[in-house]
Formats: sequence, structure tokens, C-alpha cells
Amino acid sequence: MSENGKLNRYWLHELTRPAFEDWLENEPEPVIVLGLGAIEQHGPHLPLGTDSLDTMSMIEEIGKRSNSVCVMPSWVGYSPHHMGFKGTITFSEETYLGVILDTISSLAEHGVKRFVFYSGHGGNMPVLNLAMQIARRKFQVMCYYAMGPRGSEVGRKIMERMVKYNDLHSGVNETSAALKLFPELCEMWRLDDWEPMLKVDPKVKEYMDPDHPESEIAKQVADASREPSTHHFTSDGIYGTNDPRAADPEEYTKRMDERAQYYSDFIKLWKTVPVPKGYR
Ligand SMILES: [Zn+2]
Repeated sequence: MSENGKLNRYWLHELTRPAFEDWLENEPEPVIVLGLGAIEQHGPHLPLGTDSLDTMSMIEEIGKRSNSVCVMPSWVGYSPHHMGFKGTITFSEETYLGVILDTISSLAEHGVKRFVFYSGHGGNMPVLNLAMQIARRKFQVMCYYAMGPRGSEVGRKIMERMVKYNDLHSGVNETSAALKLFPELCEMWRLDDWEPMLKVDPKVKEYMDPDHPESEIAKQVADASREPSTHHFTSDGIYGTNDPRAADPEEYTKRMDERAQYYSDFIKLWKTVPVPKGYR
């Protein structure tokens, strides 16, 4: 429903056509929040749809706080690196680029000028970045991927875990989110005898250490030497060396709140800037 441009449902697929039209006509600067997720292996304990489920919760909250319409163009994302594990579905880069561009162009045709993206899966970013560049020129729409807040207490804690323990996939960070948002889908008992499965060359491991004397360049050497597929370096699909059982759902409650607020503040501020000539 939308009355005088004010939504009380936020998913495009839940709105009637007249409700969507009401929002489009009466919201002074309509913004679409596009969520990108993934169906991919998430260790033994998290559901395959973790990234899409996270994304849906996050963007709905952003929609609510900023009176924006939310769209998930697809549950599937770009995950070729996880194909060594069963259950993963990946689009090819061409298909995924097409899915994102077709979604933008359809909505652009209806008059939407502003698109904000949120991705629960880092692997989608290269295709998304390309899609945004193409869409700006081809469909004359503003597209942006906002990221933050980085400097908050929780934000710094999460970042520190990523750097220090390689907590990038299915570790404490993602497990905290999953236990908050969909605890009924998590199978924590599968981690009963868990030990870190990250197997990398000792030299690479040495360079991954944030306390390495040449930390900045060393980290890049480690990244440059990283194997291309997940199953090459972890046998259970978890990247981190920290224990996912230390996950804290309450930490994610804070993170979700500050992130949704950050996005919504970004959208509100962005709306005060008129659409520049180059997009008209
Ligand atoms: Zn994930």
C-alpha cells in the first residue's frame, strides 16, 4: 500500500500497480533499494541462502526507514568460487550482468532515477560495479553502492576479525547475523568438533598476519597468492581461523540497526541533491 507517496509495504512484489504508481508520483525523489544475495555453500552450519536472507532483512529495514521500494532481482548471485561445494548455484558473469541491467532498465523505463544497492555477498561486487557503470550511461540513472558505517565500534570489531582471523565467510561475523535473523535454519551442532580448516601455504599464512612488519604489502602478496576456489583452501567451507561458535546475535542486532540507519541517512541526504543534467 502507498498513500500520498507514503509506503506501508516496501517490497515491489507486494505492492499493487496503483500503489506503486502512487509512490512513484507522490514521493518527491523515489529511490529503489536493490538487494543482491547468493545461493552458495556456507559451511556445515549455515543455510545455502544465508546471503540472500541477510540481504532481504537488511533492505526491507532500509526501505522502511527511507520510504523506498525494495527489489531482490534474484536469490542467486555470482559464486563460481564456491562451486566445489554442493548446493551452490552461480550465474555466469554475462547472465548476472544481464539480470542486474534488465532489472534497472525496467524500472528506469517507469521513471525511476535513483538506485541504491546492497549486497550480502562480496563476490557479486565486480559484476555489480560494471553493471552500475553501464547503467549510468545506457539508462541515464543514478546508481550507487553505499558502504558503512566503517568507523563505529561494531564496524571496527567486524573489520578487525576479517583482517586478523580471515573471518570472511561463514565465520563469527556471518554466523552472528544468521543466529539473529534465522536461528531455526542454523545447525550449530554440526560444529561440535570444529577446528579451523583454512589450509594455505605457510608463506601465504605468514603474509596474512596483520602484525607482519610489512603488513600492507604483505597482505597484498597473500591476496595475490590466494587460490581461486574455496575448496582449494578450506575443506568445510569456512574461511576463518576464529571459532564461529563465538557468534553473537546481539552484535548483529546493533550492526543491522546502525547499517540500516546509515543507508537511510544516505538516501535522505542524496534526495536533497537534484538529479544532475547528465542523467536527464
Ligand atoms: Zn555469505
